[in-house]
Amino acid sequence: MSSEPAATEVTSCRSCAGARPRPFLSLGATPIANRLVRADALDAVDPVFPLEVGFCETCALVQLTHVLPADEIFDDDYPYFSSFSDFLVRHSEKHAIDLIASRNLGPDSLVVEVASNDGYLLKAFVERGIPVLGIEPTPGPAAAARKVGVPTREEFFGADLARQLVAEGLRADVIIANNVMAHVPDLNSFVEGFSILLKDDGIVSVENPGVGALLAHTEFDTIYHEHFCYFSTIAVDALMRRHGLELVSVTEFPELHGGTLRWRSARAGAATPEPSVAERLAAERAEGLATFDRYANFGEQVRELQEQLRTLLTDLKAQGRTIAAYGAAAKGATLLNSTGIDHTLLDFVVDKNVHKQGRYMPGARLPIVPPEVLLERQPDYLLVLVWNLKDEIIAQQAEYAARGGRFIVPVPRPVVL
Ligand SMILES: [Zn+2]
Repeated sequence: MSSEPAATEVTSCRSCAGARPRPFLSLGATPIANRLVRADALDAVDPVFPLEVGFCETCALVQLTHVLPADEIFDDDYPYFSSFSDFLVRHSEKHAIDLIASRNLGPDSLVVEVASNDGYLLKAFVERGIPVLGIEPTPGPAAAARKVGVPTREEFFGADLARQLVAEGLRADVIIANNVMAHVPDLNSFVEGFSILLKDDGIVSVENPGVGALLAHTEFDTIYHEHFCYFSTIAVDALMRRHGLELVSVTEFPELHGGTLRWRSARAGAATPEPSVAERLAAERAEGLATFDRYANFGEQVRELQEQLRTLLTDLKAQGRTIAAYGAAAKGATLLNSTGIDHTLLDFVVDKNVHKQGRYMPGARLPIVPPEVLLERQPDYLLVLVWNLKDEIIAQQAEYAARGGRFIVPVPRPVVL
């Protein structure tokens, strides 16, 4: 009954085109994590696809071993509007102010952001008189960006679009690509696009959760079908070099998305790399991020975590406790579906994003309701699926806690607070 195409198995590395990535963790067959279910579609079965990760023994890139076409994943209903995270908005504004100062940006500069979403970052440049161009393939966020004064092209970025922009007379002083590189089907075209569009003295700033933090904190729930790749600095270094770019700095943001790295690159030879590049590469090699064994060990840790969490929730339920969850994010869907947690254990999920309320988590089929419902129904326990925002959530839910509510944080190992 489903019109979904089948997943295709990866036969060679997405970055270096070398041998098939070697699998180290299977999370079973799960629904697409961001595809929330509408109330009128509850009778249909959510299609499921294999979710397995492998490691390239040639260039060290961690990647899914099965993939779906991009247009299956980013449909018009894609529910993520980034401005809803206060922390992310503050981080982005700081980033913009830093770039304007360090790159001497002015009214003759151009800042291009790939996957600019609802314009939350570029808006900070616009407000300071710096010309910008957003590139955002999803119509909802693109329209929201234009509404706040951020010119936005509704397209996917790659070498072709970069050539077209250059033909229109555009070259970028700064290209920003935050939390997008993991979603890109053709990684080499994407980075080649940077190289084409960048001015000779320009910089590319890429942010993405690092695979080192994913391993160190057992953040297996950040693995989902939309994330084709999981980057180490070692893998990014190889990718950039292939396209005439080179890393010039690496900065770590431990609090962002569970551990984000910002990699800045310039044309090879155009700038002297900061010591942070060599330091980071050495640290990652010391952590084992260039060898298969470290990843196989991570696979074992994930299976243990899942077992502990399932046991904890099943025991609480058996004692007659009520349990709800916080955060209808993709990572929540991965955690619930790969661990076998559904509506028989949890009653509902709260989320402050109005675009998600009224829908259901895929697979687990939990209704998504506004945060106010927490105080109305006062469940005994709240499983914090968006553990990266746990401090913010616990602070916001002081009243829930004051009435006896307890928080369960599942990652890096299940704890009750
Ligand atoms: Zn490779």
